[in-house]
Order: sequence, then structure tokens, then C-alpha cells
Amino acid sequence: LPNHTAVVSHIAIDIGGTLAKLVYFSREAHSTEPGGRLNFVNFETDHISECLEFMRQLKRKYKKSNGSSPAELCVMATGGGAFKYYDMIRDVLGIDVLREDEMECLIIGLDFFITEIPGEVFTYSEADPMHFVTPADNVYPYLLVNIGSGVSFLKVSGPREYQRVGGTSLGGGTLWGLLSLLTGARTFDEMLDLASRGDNSKVDMLVGDIYGTDYGKIGLKSTTIASSFGKVFRKKRQAENEAEDSGGLGHYQHHSHNDHDDDDDQPLSPADASITNSFSSLPDQGKSNGAGGGGGSSRDPPFSGADISRSLLYAISNNIGQIAFLQSQIHGLSHIYFGGSFIRGHPQTMNTLSYAIKFWSKGAKQAYFLRHEGYLGAVGAFLKRQP
Ligand code: ADP
Repeated sequence: LPNHTAVVSHIAIDIGGTLAKLVYFSREAHSTEPGGRLNFVNFETDHISECLEFMRQLKRKYKKSNGSSPAELCVMATGGGAFKYYDMIRDVLGIDVLREDEMECLIIGLDFFITEIPGEVFTYSEADPMHFVTPADNVYPYLLVNIGSGVSFLKVSGPREYQRVGGTSLGGGTLWGLLSLLTGARTFDEMLDLASRGDNSKVDMLVGDIYGTDYGKIGLKSTTIASSFGKVFRKKRQAENEAEDSGGLGHYQHHSHNDHDDDDDQPLSPADASITNSFSSLPDQGKSNGAGGGGGSSRDPPFSGADISRSLLYAISNNIGQIAFLQSQIHGLSHIYFGGSFIRGHPQTMNTLSYAIKFWSKGAKQAYFLRHEGYLGAVGAFLKRQP
């Protein structure tokens, strides 16, 4: 919450499938300076009541500092939750809530970031991970790829002029969901941390695994991923065979299920567990150094949470990068902005998306990222009713 002298006059919330993003404006109560600051905070949509409690406290502060003022605190809401939780928000806050269209808010927020905020939009490359760009005069047209729980592709031709041209359900929610099944990670940040330490070649089938070398003729390096998770089945079977040879599967399963206390709340039923055993109870859940993964005894399932996380992060990001490129081709767009909380400033995610655009467009198109990538919709809603 803002410090006790700050006055909050204006709140916008974007309630998505996974996260509720809140933006509010505050200024010092007795400041003679104009302006103030925008604050950003998010909550899991599942814990919407915490979010509402936070808003209630903002409202209380507002009331206190405006005792005699008749003006109401202004609250805007967008995203699916603006509909789903509409009555609840009004009841808890006891004030009217203005609803705004989600896609429109996204592009209003993005336009604002592109044109008004220096040090917000940047390009990514390994050599220069955060290269800020100054706004060009010709902003339009561009493609916005919003990677939230799911993914939307929006063609934006001018201010408030847009069309949703595509989408994919393989998005942030997919990574979040699958990694919660496949690794011991309990939060999205833990998953990103695992991914940053993993080695996807332990899980993915690479061009080099198939050719023994690169396939230069069609531009494939030996490290190019030919098949995400393509090595898993063979490695898993090999580990099972070795375990059987040395005294049956018993040890393998016993080891996996009982020797690690971080298995205790794994979400699969016992019947499912035997099928997914080697995935759902990894030997080094959350603790891998990422280098060797399950490189220990041949009885250990040969996969680490870190390697799996890295592989799935690449799979999802590569897929989105490829679709983004194709959409940009179809619609003749050379500027591609990536938003949504999935990105979260994570280097491998941005590198994969950026590389995909550069590679497929032969350098003709550029991927852009944002420091507040998750807050486009909330900022857009905020701006629709400026204080
Ligand atoms: P939505 O509007 O659908 O909720 P967001 O843009 O908020 O979408 O992005 C949600 C996605 O962001 C999640 O699916 C996950 O991939 C990622 N993410 C980032 N931070 C978190 C977090 N703290 N908890 C859960 N998911 C997160």
C-alpha cells in the first residue's frame, strides 16, 4: 500500500484467467508538485478476495484524505473477471465500477507505453539484452502478441483501430499447468528459475541427435530442436529396462515415491502415478543444478525438473514466435510487440521469441518487449477515464 500520506484517486484492474493486475495512481497529499506515480501490483485471480481487500484499503485511504470531497474514487475494470466478478467488486467496494473492453484496453495501454513512456519499450538480444528504443513517428501498423493464460494476436492499424487476427491456447497457462504436473515447482517464478538452470538437450531431440551433425543445407544447426520432448520416451524406457535388469522396478518406484518428501502433495491419483511416475516425482525437484539433471545412478529417472522446464519454455515460446511471424507475414507487419505476464522479463523467453522473429524474417522484422508487459490492459483501462 502507498505510504500514509499518499492519496489514491484512481484505480484500474484487469482481471484475467490467471492474474488480476491492478494499476493505481497516487500522489503525495501535501505535495505542491503536479503529478504523482503509477503503481503496479498483481494477485492470483483465484485469490480475488485479497485483491478486493487491497482495493478496499485504497478506497479507505481515499475517503480519509477527501473527507469533504463528494467525488467518488474512480474504479475501472477490464478482462473476463470484470464480468465474472462485477457484482462482487461493487458489493465489496460499495461503489460503481466502470467496465471497459479488454482488447481495446490492451492496445490503448500499449500505445501509451510506445508513445509516451521513455525507457519502456526495448529489443532483446543476448549481446544487448535491454536495448531501449525511442518512439518512431510511424508506429502503425503493428502486431501485438499478448501472451497471458492463452495467446491473442492483434493487428493494430491505428489508434483504437484493431482486429484480433488469431490466437492459440498453447500459452502461459499451458506452461504453468504442465510444469506444475511435471516438476516440483510451486510457483511460476520457481518454474522460470528451474528453466534458467536446465539443459533442454537432455529432453529434446536435437537435429544433431538425428543427423550426428548439423543439416546445413536447410539451415539447421545441430543444436536446433527437432522434437520437443522427443528424447523422453527412449530414455525413460532405457531407465526402466536397466532398473528391471538390476532387480525389478520396485526399487525405482520406491525410490521415487518415498525418498523425497517433496512428493507428498503431488496432484495425481495413485492410479495415475504409476504411469507418470518418472515425471511427477523427479529426483531433484526444484534443486537441480541444471547441468547434469538426473545424471546419477542409472536407476534414477533420467529427467530433471530444470531440464523439463527449459524444454517446455522453449517449446511454447518457439511455437508462439513462429505463429507471430506467420501472422506478421499474412498481414504485412514488421513491428511485433510481445506483451502479457508470461514473458515476465525472462531472458530465455525473450531470446526465443526475438530469435524466432529474426530468423524467420531474415532480419526484416523486429520483436519488441515492454518493462510492464503484464499491465497493458490495466493501464489501458486506467487511461480511458483519466483523472
Ligand atoms: P491472464 O490475463 O490470462 O491472467 P496474464 O497476462 O496475467 O494473463 O498472464 C498469465 C500467465 O503469466 C500465466 O499463465 C503464467 O504463464 C504467467 N505468470 C507470470 N507470473 C505469474 C504468477 N505469479 N502466477 C501465475 N502465473 C504467472
